Amino acid sequence: MKNSPYQSADGKPLQPVTLDSPFLSVAFGAKELCARSGCCVGVCPEGAITLGDDKYPVLDLKKCTACGLCGEVCPGGEVKYGELAEQVFGEHFVDRGFDGQVEKTFVGYATDERFRKGGAGGGMVTALLHHLLKTGQVDGCLVTRMNHEKPWRAEPFIATSYEELCESQGSRYSIVPMNALWADLRKREGKFAAAILPCQTHGFRKLQKADPELAAKIPYVIGLFCGGSLEPNLTTEMLSMRGIKKDEIKDFQFRGGDWPGQMRAVFKDDRPPKPLHYSNYKDGAYNYFTSLYMPERCQTCLDGSNEFSDVSVSDAWTRNEDGEYKFKEHSRLLIRTGAGQALIKSAVENGDLELVDVTKDPSYSTHKMQTKRKGSLAPIRVERWKNAGRPVPDYDRTVPADVTRKERVTEFLGSSMLRAGRCKPFRMAVMGFLTSKYAIPLIKFRLWRKKRKYAKRKAAKA
Ligand SMILES: Cc1cc2nc3c(=O)[nH]c(=O)nc-3n(C[C@H](O)[C@H](O)[C@H](O)COP(=O)(O)OP(=O)(O)OC[C@H]3O[C@@H](n4cnc5c(N)ncnc54)[C@H](O)[C@@H]3O)c2cc1C
Repeated sequence: MKNSPYQSADGKPLQPVTLDSPFLSVAFGAKELCARSGCCVGVCPEGAITLGDDKYPVLDLKKCTACGLCGEVCPGGEVKYGELAEQVFGEHFVDRGFDGQVEKTFVGYATDERFRKGGAGGGMVTALLHHLLKTGQVDGCLVTRMNHEKPWRAEPFIATSYEELCESQGSRYSIVPMNALWADLRKREGKFAAAILPCQTHGFRKLQKADPELAAKIPYVIGLFCGGSLEPNLTTEMLSMRGIKKDEIKDFQFRGGDWPGQMRAVFKDDRPPKPLHYSNYKDGAYNYFTSLYMPERCQTCLDGSNEFSDVSVSDAWTRNEDGEYKFKEHSRLLIRTGAGQALIKSAVENGDLELVDVTKDPSYSTHKMQTKRKGSLAPIRVERWKNAGRPVPDYDRTVPADVTRKERVTEFLGSSMLRAGRCKPFRMAVMGFLTSKYAIPLIKFRLWRKKRKYAKRKAAKA
């Protein structure tokens, strides 16, 4: 382990550690910048940092030796895109657009029916993890599941079998401090693959510099796209809004049932799973939730496509000219690194994935709404908050030169809604309405508008 300038030669703190000691991770000095990635918990060699109920880290000052590792791996307070690009791709660049550095783009699905049916999209992430496991390239996979005793809480765990990977399938739109699992990896032999969100990948890339030995245990990072996570209290509030007691459920599904899925409570008794609102995942629900439950740090995140993973996986939302989804139960895959390239080659050769190469098809290179959220709205927010004296992450990316007044107004309104969403009575009232049957006309209106947009486009082309 390296020597810290804050420690004496025998590994003791030179000065008493306090919560504002400069070498600690950002959570202890500026909680609102903490991404709750779990990096500081996972890297601490003394086990001095644990997770609180709200998934923020808690530091035992008596155990801290001032080694500074937690601060070095923390992705909350600083992300330097140029340095990360140099580290991962060997080239210094700050911004290559929303998708980042991409070698090849595919659309496809897992050939294993259980992976495909149970997946958020085409089950590609789970198929890739299983491929690595069964071919002996890794001994375990860093994934998520709902806690068995408290199924409304998502948690990270290390899957080592097909059945455990099946349990991990699907998206949990909730904060899961994945990198807290690094602490387990310290004690385990072998190699591991991680399916993680962009902030967690940033932390992992920092780990490669701060503790290369520990980082070498993770040779593959499968990155999920991320439009922003949601506060963990979403699940309990949705249950209470629908009059469901926590102890009645054995599972909470964010995208259960037929693709693209719907938020559902799965009961311990033989009642059928109950949808918790009337729109499916895509036609409204996720947007409602992100407008009220997105944590503060996610609101200032600029990386939606997991730019520094080996491969990134997203939903494949591309529509045909009639506005229908072109690829149901599919995922979109971006290959970024040599390790990613080798992984996909071997998974395809083994028959684990069915892929179509869409690298040259421009309709796959955009995620329109996320491009706007991450490319212009979030940088505007960072700049505005900084000018107002609020703590913001330190980035080398700035507001694009061509941002419009409309985008500034949109950012302001979005931020105001999220701020209001921190007030529980307001949040419950808005969510109560949006997820009730009274919102059905709203959902129908949205769908009608979308259909009309595509019909107009088609007519204009004809
Ligand atoms: C918070 C969040 C926001 C997302 N936002 C977008 C978006 O805006 N646009 C988009 O195209 N895609 C987004 N995704 C990714 C998308 O939902 C799918 O995960 C992705 O398309 C892979 O689908 P799949 O069927 O291949 O994965 P599956 O085979 O179903 O595997 C899903 C994997 O995701 C892991 N996972 C689930 N929840 C979490 C979590 N909270 N933290 C870390 N890992 C998790 C599981 O452990 C599993 O390994 C988001 C995912 C999450 C978790």
